[in-house]
Amino acid sequence: MRGLELPGPIGRTPRPRRAALVRRTSDLIKTGKEILHRPLDFVLAVTVSFILLPVLVLRAGIAILQTGRIFDRQVLLGRFRVPFERLQFAGSFPGRWFAVLANITRGDLSWAGPRPLNLIEADNVPTEAWARFRIRPGLVSTHRLRARVGLAHEAESITDCDYFYSQTLGESLGVLARALPSAMLGGTASSGSVSILRFLGVDIVNTTMDEAVGWIVRRAKDGTDSQLCFVNPDCLNIAYGDTRYRRVLERADRVLPDGVGIHLACRISGTSLVANVNGTDLFPRICEMAAIENLSLFLLGAASGRAEESARNMQLRFGDLKIVGTHSGYFEASEESALIEEINYSRADILLVGFGAPRQDIWIADNFRRLSPPVKIGVGGLFDFYSDKIPRAPQWMREIGLEWLWRLIREPRRMWRRYVVGNPLFLIRVWRESRFGHVQQP
Ligand code: UDP
Repeated sequence: MRGLELPGPIGRTPRPRRAALVRRTSDLIKTGKEILHRPLDFVLAVTVSFILLPVLVLRAGIAILQTGRIFDRQVLLGRFRVPFERLQFAGSFPGRWFAVLANITRGDLSWAGPRPLNLIEADNVPTEAWARFRIRPGLVSTHRLRARVGLAHEAESITDCDYFYSQTLGESLGVLARALPSAMLGGTASSGSVSILRFLGVDIVNTTMDEAVGWIVRRAKDGTDSQLCFVNPDCLNIAYGDTRYRRVLERADRVLPDGVGIHLACRISGTSLVANVNGTDLFPRICEMAAIENLSLFLLGAASGRAEESARNMQLRFGDLKIVGTHSGYFEASEESALIEEINYSRADILLVGFGAPRQDIWIADNFRRLSPPVKIGVGGLFDFYSDKIPRAPQWMREIGLEWLWRLIREPRRMWRRYVVGNPLFLIRVWRESRFGHVQQP
């Protein structure tokens, strides 16, 4: 079979020999990286085992005393689906997972990689995601890191495949480095958590990203007039002292949790967040479903041209997406009626309003009956991100709950009160509420 030919500069014929050389070199680099991976895993596992030797010996002793054996074994599938026994120290004493160091030393597991699956789970991996079996499974996986902060919105098999294709030594070390801060944030609940969270007097629906998108699409298709709001700690702090905004949140058809602050509030009050269903992550999913279900969108908000640019970007991504109008978020009161007429004339099914909270949510509530799109959503500053005018925090920062720090560094003057003062204040209020009952609002 002939190799891939890279196109040459315009007007010249492709140079197959050079293309083959480039291909061979990149294959070599990939193989080199894979070869390097294993010794590094090994050296790190042996070093950690050596440092922890007294702890390991003690834990093994406790296992024998409690159960008469050192290890519990579970058969899982490793690289190329070869079965191996994942070890855990026996008994109920903490530190069971330390035994996994033996698996990493032996080469069953890597430090970072897709989660090792059992036979039944492996059978359910879709064919297009089988690439994940071509690398060693890992102790820490990207999907698990994301699940801990409620950001595992993609199927695990998709995240694993992305990891396979983007895997570099740096990426593996990054996953490992993120494991500790992410473990400190604690986990989210996939099920069994309360369906409504209540913080500072506001009810928040505790749900998954898919369910939230399904709700929006259903309401838009049925033509059921609905208002959806997102709340982060800053919003709840504002609602705490602003009766008008609090009433809007109380009357909204749905309020969804946005950001790691709500996750921490759940930990403080002894509940679990199912997912961080924030507007910025929800937006492309709404666009995708709207394109499939033939629903149309109107984007209103942000500085001039940003809603329009976001619309263009989304239509490039989802070919069938209908965005029937856009408008900036800066207009005079005298222009409001004309704007509402423009929105209604567009016959949009879903209206996204990005003026920032609480302005956007109060504006929707005030004009609820005048706006004809059935579903009206306050989405904050997301048109700034999707028009590529303001970069969003990198994925690794989001995975350890530091998106707020990114925004603080980029806009310290505007954000310091929101994050430096607001976040701790919110958590103190939640702690007081969970300890002493409902907090009396001013
Ligand atoms: N904004 C607007 N009209 C206004 C005030 C603000 O469209 O009168 C826009 C602003 O340009 C920005 C967004 O609202 O795009 C507010 O962003 P912020 O980061 O404050 O919102 P968050 O996502 O944090 O709620």
